[in-house]
Amino acid sequence: MGKVFGFMDKDREAFLKIKHEEAQRFIDPKTGKIFAHMVERINCPVCDVDDSTLVFEKSGFDFVQCRSCGLLHVNPQLTGEVQDSIYKESKTAEHWIKVQKKAHEQTWNIEKKYKPALDELARLRPEKGYLLDVGCSIGQFLDLARTDGWDVEGVELNADAAQVARSEYGLTVQNKKLDECGYAPETFDVVTLWGVFEHLTDPNGILADIKKVLKKDGHVLFFVPNGHSLIIRMTRELNSTVSGRAHLWYFTPATMSKILQNNGFKTDVEFSVLPQIHEIEHFLRYHTMYREPDILCEEEFSIPESLRAGLEDYIDENKLGYKLITIAQNLG
Ligand SMILES: [Zn+2]
Repeated sequence: MGKVFGFMDKDREAFLKIKHEEAQRFIDPKTGKIFAHMVERINCPVCDVDDSTLVFEKSGFDFVQCRSCGLLHVNPQLTGEVQDSIYKESKTAEHWIKVQKKAHEQTWNIEKKYKPALDELARLRPEKGYLLDVGCSIGQFLDLARTDGWDVEGVELNADAAQVARSEYGLTVQNKKLDECGYAPETFDVVTLWGVFEHLTDPNGILADIKKVLKKDGHVLFFVPNGHSLIIRMTRELNSTVSGRAHLWYFTPATMSKILQNNGFKTDVEFSVLPQIHEIEHFLRYHTMYREPDILCEEEFSIPESLRAGLEDYIDENKLGYKLITIAQNLG
C-alpha cells in the first residue's frame, strides 16, 4: 500500500471499513440491491414528486437525479425505522468520535469550516446571541462559537458523543431529537447543522422544527456535501462521502436555496469549501483519491503549477468545492 495522505489514518480507515461491512448486510444476494422490505420509494424533497433518472449505483443503492430540480439523491431509501435501528446498533459512532478527537482533525475543522462560518455569522448578526447546534457530536464547534461570544447549546442523538461534549467541554447538550427537546418558540438567534441535513429522511420536517425554535429573523446554517462539486461530479460512487445509507441528499446551491425558500427561509450567504485539487489529481492518476500511488509511471499525470491557482479560484467562484455552507434567514 502507498503512503496515506490527507486525513486518511487508521481510525478513519477503521470507520470506513466498518461502514462498508455494515452496508454489505443490507444487500440481497439475489438482486445485488438492498432487500426490498428495507426500502421505500420517496419523493424529491424539493419538488415533492418521484420523477427521476438513474445516475449511478453504489452498494445496492440507486443514486438518481430529479428531472425537475436536478437534485442528486438516493431512491429508494432505507425506511425511517431501519435508519433508526442502524444508528442505534452501528459500531461506526465510536470510531467517528476517535476521528473527531484528533488534534489535526480539529485544527482542520476549525480552519477550513468553522472559522469562515463564524466570520459570516458575526457579520450577519454582530450582536450575536443564542446558538443551537443540531447534531453537535463532541461539541467542537460549540466550544469555538462560545469562545467567539455566542451563548451555546447542543442536541446530539449519539449518547457517547453527547457525553464527551458535556464532560470535556462543559457544554449543555440534550441527547434527544430536536422536536423532543421542549425548547420554547423563538428561542434561538442561530441554529447550525454541520454534516447533519444530508442524513435526515425528512428535510422539510427538520426545517419546520428549526423554524419553530428560531427567532422570527433568525439564521440557520448548513454544511452539506455539495452535489454541484467537481469532485463528486467526477468520482461519483468512488467518493467516500457518497453513501446510500448515510447521505441521502446531495444538495447544490440552487436546490438548497429552493428547499429553504419552500420552507420560509431566504439564502443570505453561500460558499463552497475544500476544492480537493489534490484528490482530483490523484483520481486522474488511476489511483484512489486517498492514497499516494503504489506505482510511479514515467508519464504520470499532474496539474501544472501554473494552472493550480486558477483552478482553485474557478472552483471557489463557482461553488464547485466538495462541501457547501449555506446561511439562510427565517422570513418569520
Ligand atoms: Zn426535485
